[in-house]
Amino acid sequence: MGISVKGASKKFGDFVALEDISIEVPDGSLTALLGPSGSGKSTLLRVIAGLEQPDAGRIVISDRDTTDVPVQDRGVGFVFQHYAAFKHMTVKNNIAFGLSIRKRPRKEIDTRVRELLQLVHLDGFADRYPSQLSGGQRQRMALARALAVEPEVLLLDEPFGALDANVRKELRVWLRRLHEEVHVTTIFVTHDQEEAMDVAEQIVVMNEGRIEQTGAPRDLYDHPSTEFVMGFVGPVNRRGALFIRPHDLEILQVPAVEAEEAMIERIVHLGFEARVELLLADGEQLWAQMTLAEAELMELAAGQIVYARPRHAKVFEPSGASRTEELAAA
Ligand code: ADP
Ligand code: MG
Repeated sequence: MGISVKGASKKFGDFVALEDISIEVPDGSLTALLGPSGSGKSTLLRVIAGLEQPDAGRIVISDRDTTDVPVQDRGVGFVFQHYAAFKHMTVKNNIAFGLSIRKRPRKEIDTRVRELLQLVHLDGFADRYPSQLSGGQRQRMALARALAVEPEVLLLDEPFGALDANVRKELRVWLRRLHEEVHVTTIFVTHDQEEAMDVAEQIVVMNEGRIEQTGAPRDLYDHPSTEFVMGFVGPVNRRGALFIRPHDLEILQVPAVEAEEAMIERIVHLGFEARVELLLADGEQLWAQMTLAEAELMELAAGQIVYARPRHAKVFEPSGASRTEELAAA
């Protein structure tokens, strides 16, 4: 059940867009594909949807090998970043579109559209036109339209990518709740690690057409298997071979074993959190993250000399192999 991609590869000319990709998306789960721009996320989604044919590999949706099945018969619903709504059709008719072309009875369509409008919180908007909706409302309409035909899987390609930060945050909470209600197997593409962590149960991290790591959000953050993942799923300091999360960098006011002397260059106040920027004797810079209360308690200020040491750090093998080692310097 769910979606399996088995050894999928895709080239555009000489360019390798996907290299031997295998993923398992559990039935009913919400899985994020996370990676920088150009890492192959959309290509993978298009291969799963059938909009793009892989050069090698198989796509299995709900136990059915769909590699050679045309798009319209794969049971996939799709939402893109820039949703192409029918401008001359009302919201209601946009949502009903897939059902109308399938020639479902009028009554069934009306009932279904009413349910969907409720589901995406657009109850009062049935008779508006897409131009009369906000960006966030339009993407919710797009989701309703994709869900109308009861797809087996929902594929969302940066659906909130064009919206303001605040609206995006609201919509990801909304999407999580929606998913709890409908439980359709969903793949959500994003380049935003916070968005992926917030929304998904499972995250597949992609880089240059390959999978770096797959895991639950916590796993990726606490046990990244590569330098790339460590840096992509959260902030990181690099000191020689050590990779240190800013909240793992301890600031002391007196010298201590394994603590390095540093000058506070700047303290940035971010509400609850303070970001303490440090300059080391050799000119390298690090930053430490703590609560504002901690920083105030220690009376930290720019220009002070302090001592910084990692509570934990990670070391990756030079080959880039996925071995990690935990250091506890304390
Ligand atoms: P992402 O969605 O992660 O930003 P894409 O899957 O869109 O990445 O693209 C991955 C790479 O493949 C990019 O370098 C892109 O230029 C290239 N690519 C994607 N589609 C095509 C295409 N139809 N022809 C040629 N190159 C393509
Ligand atoms: Mg893309």
